[in-house]
Amino acid sequence: MTRATRAIIHLSALQHNLRIAQQSAGKAKVMAIIKANAYGHGLIPVANALDNADAFGVATLAEAIQLRHAGIRKPITLLEGFTRQEELPVIAQQQLDVVIHHSLQVTLLEQYQGKPIPLTWVKIDTGMHRLGFNPADVAEMRARLSRVQVVQQPLRWFTHLANADERTDQSTVTQLAVFHSTLQALTKDATVITSVANSAGILAWPASHGDWVRPGIMLYGVSPFTDSSAATHNLKPVMTLQSSVLAINQRRRGDRIGYGGSYVCPEDMAVGVVAIGYGDGYPRHAKAGTPVLVNGQRVPLIGRVSMDMIMVDLRSQPQANIGDPVVLWGQGLAVEEIARSADTIGYQLLCGVTTRVPYEYI
Ligand SMILES: *Cc1c(COP(=O)(O)O)cnc(C)c1O
Repeated sequence: MTRATRAIIHLSALQHNLRIAQQSAGKAKVMAIIKANAYGHGLIPVANALDNADAFGVATLAEAIQLRHAGIRKPITLLEGFTRQEELPVIAQQQLDVVIHHSLQVTLLEQYQGKPIPLTWVKIDTGMHRLGFNPADVAEMRARLSRVQVVQQPLRWFTHLANADERTDQSTVTQLAVFHSTLQALTKDATVITSVANSAGILAWPASHGDWVRPGIMLYGVSPFTDSSAATHNLKPVMTLQSSVLAINQRRRGDRIGYGGSYVCPEDMAVGVVAIGYGDGYPRHAKAGTPVLVNGQRVPLIGRVSMDMIMVDLRSQPQANIGDPVVLWGQGLAVEEIARSADTIGYQLLCGVTTRVPYEYI
């Protein structure tokens, strides 16, 4: 008997979500963010399905090379740029765009003698305080970059929002103001090309749209907000993580279930065992009561999540049988809800599906 555990990837939902991003972003072009193996959905099949995006964004050179080897010709941006001189000839050869966020990168470009880099985004730290040039240092960096032959002019301008998922957080207003005042002081004219918005920016902060938006999580059908579901934004879940019932056992009142015996049966009851565990990427910290769909009906998780199995309370499903289909998240059960129940975010659950889970693309 083969294990029923699967991640089903609905490519039509992915394409639908891209259209929602495009509609929400008005005239802005879309750099579809497919880093981290396309948020756990599979880099190459996702890139092929997102043929209507204007460009792709990835975190690592290895991801970009994989895309080029798969025949993807679209512009690809390395969101973190590069850290070593040896990467520059590869970047030029593979025709990759880069984000420059640190003076060390400018120095590497000054020392580099090879083929030109297609396109350079300069990242300004407007308040996230992770990557980017301090606004006060941007003019000097721009002057240095303007003297580097391999860097194509004009430069493009980039920043990242720290709190765009909080719809009324004033720090987003401040970040946008810092971004625009820095650019105004620098360039005088208003024709510079900008990119600011992640999914939350696209959906909640129209003022952040700029020329290029960078949707990630929304493409995969997940809401970036805690106060609104994906469905309210007309987004459709792309990944359905599914499995089946491996065993059903009658337990007695007082029986303890699983490692640590954390769940005690309140009465005689049927306990279902499902073939999924943290070895597949189901969160170890999912609390008792986390919903699981058995035959499309919600039942609560009981006991601790183990490596290969979880257990569920089947008192409400007396007709359930071994082999019945189980959904852990996806269609019919939002990954956001599972994430909340495991004190994490949907992003982490999607990225965390492990390599032993077979993927099916439909
Ligand atoms: C990951 C990432 C995004 C996408 O963010 P989402 O919240 O998934 O939409 C956009 N821009 C940058 C620089 C990123 O690293």
